[in-house]
Amino acid sequence: MSYLQVTQLNKSYGPTQIFNNIDFSAEEGEFVTLLGPSGCGKSTLLRCLAGLTSVDSGKIVIQGQDIVPLPPQQRGIGMVFQSYALFPNMTVEANVAFGLKMQRIPACDLHRRVGDVLELVEMNDYAKRYPHQLSGGQCQRVALARSLVTQPRLLLLDEPLSALDARIRRHLREQIRRIQREMNLTAIFVTHDQEEALTMSDRIVLMNKGQIVQNADAETLYTEP
Ligand code: ADP
Ligand code: ADP
Repeated sequence: MSYLQVTQLNKSYGPTQIFNNIDFSAEEGEFVTLLGPSGCGKSTLLRCLAGLTSVDSGKIVIQGQDIVPLPPQQRGIGMVFQSYALFPNMTVEANVAFGLKMQRIPACDLHRRVGDVLELVEMNDYAKRYPHQLSGGQCQRVALARSLVTQPRLLLLDEPLSALDARIRRHLREQIRRIQREMNLTAIFVTHDQEEALTMSDRIVLMNKGQIVQNADAETLYTEP
């Protein structure tokens, strides 16, 4: 069985079916991109994995454990959003520490782990700043640090680069991949940008209208006409 195994997942909003019996998997340390047009259900799938929205039926199994019954904070999942979703009234440091505080991690451990993860995303010098004092790219690095600090077993990235300009996007792309490799993290990256998908992924899953239409390693897609 794969590290992450999604089986027969169903989701509707009222009468509208968003996806129907989706099957999906990822191996440990794999960087999988979910690529598809806007509105096809990519975000909803990530939100279902994270527990931010409920599923109608189906299983989401990580390392043999079905996480569907678990609340979001017990799923061991980190998530990064397009819009950063930082707490505006908290410093960088406090934003990153938030998840650890919820877990009642002792202060000295907490301090060290926040420092380590801020260093990883090269934001150590900005620990005392507030989000409104940072650029978009810097905000996203803080959001990435916040998602990593709890040492998740799965990292979900929902169009994390879409709001940034091209130069920052390239830099952050490389940074995300480097960190993901170093930590041997299993990551699911959502985008509607083909080039981003082709250059970043171990594997690309194409989604359209709530269906998975093709599943291939990035090289195969690259070389096909
Ligand atoms: P994508 O991430 O691929 O752009 P989404 O998962 O955001 O797609 O949306 C898939 C479909 O579900 C869209 O038609 C969207 O309008 C709809 N949708 C998303 N969230 C909700 C919600 N909370 N209530 C009703 N419909 C929703
Ligand atoms: P994102 O791009 O971060 O997924 P969206 O702009 O798609 O955010 O959606 C923002 C919020 O509105 C989400 O909570 C989503 O579930 C909800 N939403 C999106 N589309 C619809 C819809 N058609 N009806 C109701 N709620 C929706």
